[in-house]
Amino acid sequence: MSKSAKRELEVVRSTRLTPHMQRITLGGEGLADFPTDQESAYIKLIFPRGEAEKPLMRTYTIRYQRAAEIDVDFALHEHMGPASEWAVNARPGERILVGGPGPKKLIQSQADWFLLAGDMTALPAISVNLAALPDDARGHAVIEIVHPADKQPLVHPENFQLHWVINSQPDTASSPLLDKVKSLPWFDGQPAVWAACEFGSMRALRCWFKQTLDVPKSHLYVSSYWKIGQTEDGHKLAKQQDTMAESVS
Ligand SMILES: Cc1cc2nc3c(=O)[nH]c(=O)nc-3n(C[C@H](O)[C@H](O)[C@H](O)COP(=O)(O)OP(=O)(O)OC[C@H]3O[C@@H](n4cnc5c(N)ncnc54)[C@H](O)[C@@H]3O)c2cc1C
Repeated sequence: MSKSAKRELEVVRSTRLTPHMQRITLGGEGLADFPTDQESAYIKLIFPRGEAEKPLMRTYTIRYQRAAEIDVDFALHEHMGPASEWAVNARPGERILVGGPGPKKLIQSQADWFLLAGDMTALPAISVNLAALPDDARGHAVIEIVHPADKQPLVHPENFQLHWVINSQPDTASSPLLDKVKSLPWFDGQPAVWAACEFGSMRALRCWFKQTLDVPKSHLYVSSYWKIGQTEDGHKLAKQQDTMAESVS
């Protein structure tokens, strides 16, 4: 993502989608030269901290893009940080500095079947992936949510099964997402896997997909979107170290 790709956007609407998901619709003149076809790409929300300190940045997914608006869905968590707190309080007309978009990471489409897995932070990206898959695609989507009322209606291929897993305490070291993924029947043929979630769950899922199921690198995207007990800055460091360790293993 180039440093120059920063723009000021305006809050158009704020909508509570479900108890733990706040949608902020952004627009304004700053969106005029925003590239098209960016659903599932990421943006950085930038929170300045004065001259002396670097601004804080938080990463979010473009859920929907229309001609003059983008929707960004914020998972609301117990120990709120600058981004979730901003989302809860944002009012129409307010402005926010945004960087990006960064590249989209869609599931590999050349496969016999598909598995998408993630928590509420990945729900926007999973929703875009599901809607983009061909009508005859088959597979599973496993989505961890905080409360049953956090389920959302999702557009998906007919032969796709949606599994909603409830985890009322996502910031404790348990992984109902992994447990559910492990319990799924595996179809014949080449799977493509896309997963994004908390760092510890990501590592466990990655190990399961790579070592136990032998999913090749070409058909595997596994990423962490946050880390228990760490702000995004701490998570970023852990992610860098993990990537280095993975590349030498
Ligand atoms: C490529 C990418 C795309 C992402 N897209 C989205 C998106 O579309 N929607 C979205 O909601 N998130 C998304 N995330 C995750 C989001 O960037 C992090 O959750 C971020 O830490 C939230 O910032 P914050 O300011 O609210 O909290 P921070 O200041 O970063 O953290 C404060 C505290 O909250 C905890 N925390 C952070 N996230 C969660 C959570 N989900 N559940 C429980 N505790 C949490 C932290 O561990 C920390 O203790 C994405 C991340 C990446 C890397």
